[in-house]
Amino acid sequence: MKKTFFLKQDLSFWTNWKWQLQNRITTKEELENFFSLSIQEKEIFDKAEKIFNFAVTPYYVSLANPSDPHCPIRKQIIPQALELIQTSYERQDPLYEENYMPVKGVTHRYPDRALWYLSHVCPVYCRFCTRKRKVGNSFNTPRKEDWKKALEYFQEHKEIKEVILSGGDPLSLSDTSLSYLIGELKRISHINHIRIHTRYPVTLPFRITSELCMIFKENFPIFVVTHFNHPKEITLESKEAIRKLIQEGNAIVLNQNVLLKGINDNAEILKDLFYQLVNIGVKPYYLHQCDEVYGSSGFKVPIQEGIKIMKQLRGFISGICLPNYVVDLTGGGGKVPLPTDYLIKENAESLIFENFQEEIFKIQK
Ligand code: SF4
Repeated sequence: MKKTFFLKQDLSFWTNWKWQLQNRITTKEELENFFSLSIQEKEIFDKAEKIFNFAVTPYYVSLANPSDPHCPIRKQIIPQALELIQTSYERQDPLYEENYMPVKGVTHRYPDRALWYLSHVCPVYCRFCTRKRKVGNSFNTPRKEDWKKALEYFQEHKEIKEVILSGGDPLSLSDTSLSYLIGELKRISHINHIRIHTRYPVTLPFRITSELCMIFKENFPIFVVTHFNHPKEITLESKEAIRKLIQEGNAIVLNQNVLLKGINDNAEILKDLFYQLVNIGVKPYYLHQCDEVYGSSGFKVPIQEGIKIMKQLRGFISGICLPNYVVDLTGGGGKVPLPTDYLIKENAESLIFENFQEEIFKIQK
């Protein structure tokens, strides 16, 4: 059904990223060309779109099984009832990014690095997005005149060694803008490296063009942190995007993913995801506890459950495949690793550990 729908229009543009962006599905009526929505889902959609924009690329929709309500792609696309509820612990800005913003778009929370919010446009608006307060809305997005102030801030703050281009999705900017911004950052001598957070390789892999990779290559080293949540997202197209990033862009590619209820909260699914990522050259970097952003309770996996899942992975799969399980503390506390409790006892001279197979070992302090 899905490709037939686009075939009626013009499938020759399928691999053109600008066509994909312009032809995103943004309304309930368009979405119904792909999924049979229940009456309840339609009602939820109408309410949810007033809270957070809806958009999904034709490419990402094509990964979903429209007849399977448990499909992990479908679950990431279609608004669910709990999005309409804000629990007592959820916040508009759980990481207090706006409180650490010396210049429009720049969040300087950690000593040696700063995050630069550059675009409100994403190919797909993830229902669990931490920045749903502003993603999809141009109001808070820095304009070209704000870029200058941000660059001056980076220049003045010699403690900043890393700038993270983020959003929204920074790869929504044109190649010309990206080339300019990255080039300006490279000119600041104390900046050690640049990191780019993007979900394009997952939701619109055709954005990773040879021209874009050339910009990365010219500005080595560029660290690209992408966001695959489920093995179903690793397709021929996304593999090709990663290949280009690594081989044509000389980029170092990492992945961060969110632990999502009913989508990937399972050791076997995560094992499959992490193995496949390493197989295509991507290092799993962070597994995030879902941030306490408003309307996210439907995605939340209890932390103890996450720790249990990590214990089912650690030691059983190569350390190269294993990300750090972290929580970004609500209130702007920053990221902390979640405990794994391998140290079970300590006395004056020794430490008692339990290994991944639940065997006990004692070592001297
Ligand atoms: S791609 Fe990132 S910034 Fe954009 S909606 Fe998804 S989680 Fe939010």
